[in-house]
Amino acid sequence: TPVVSARGLSKVYSTRTGTPVVALTDVSFDVAEGEFVSILGPSGCGKSTLLRIVAGLTGETEGTVDVNAAGAGPGTDVGLMFQQAVLLPWRTVEQNVALPGIVAGRRFRDVRPRARSLIEMVGLDGFAEKYPGELSGGMQQRAALARSLLQDPRLLLLDEPFGALDAMTRDQMNLEVERVRQQTGKTILLVTHSIAEAVFLSDRIIVMTGRPGTIREIVDVTLARP
Ligand code: ADP
Ligand code: ADP
Repeated sequence: TPVVSARGLSKVYSTRTGTPVVALTDVSFDVAEGEFVSILGPSGCGKSTLLRIVAGLTGETEGTVDVNAAGAGPGTDVGLMFQQAVLLPWRTVEQNVALPGIVAGRRFRDVRPRARSLIEMVGLDGFAEKYPGELSGGMQQRAALARSLLQDPRLLLLDEPFGALDAMTRDQMNLEVERVRQQTGKTILLVTHSIAEAVFLSDRIIVMTGRPGTIREIVDVTLARP
């Protein structure tokens, strides 16, 4: 069974002005276990809306989405990463990375070893006891990446995670994601408006088009690779 299965998803936002905004129309796709799928398209075409529906952060207007990431319990099966790292400024890097475990009711001293090894994996050795304010934007996103992996989720949902970074740091972070993927074999769904990023990272690319927020085509990138 696929990890994500979306069928006929539509989303209409109601707004204060009374004019509804159609964000998605009849979107269907699957993501298989271990697959890396990117959602690519111009700003406003509904990429974030689609990802947020898969994450359960917003409801669909029509259609269904099944996320078969069953594991330990609610909140532990999906890892999320957004454009802004949203680290707690008054907590150290290791405390931030450990946070999903703390929220799930575990003790810091029990979660700490795993937090430490993830901090190492994303190349932040030596920064575990620093505060987010002492880190560059790219390093903060490395910490956010480590945090998203803490509960060992089956599915990672990444919404333009490096969109706010400069081009060189973004390239470094893409290599980092590629490395994490090779080490962990995670199923990953990435939202991006960068064609290069999508081609570099993905097995398949869902190409979306704006107004009315539909899939234009789904490209199998693995066929084009040596
Ligand atoms: P993308 O991620 O591709 O930039 P979004 O999913 O953010 O696209 O937005 C799709 C459309 O839905 C846009 O027209 C956007 O303005 C609109 N939209 C997104 N979120 C909301 C919301 N909470 N309320 C009303 N309209 C929204
Ligand atoms: P993104 O960087 O994903 O494109 P946006 O800047 O479009 O995000 O949106 C940021 C937040 O504002 C999101 O929560 C989104 O749902 C909401 N939003 C986006 N467009 C609208 C809109 N037209 N009306 C109300 N809320 C919106």
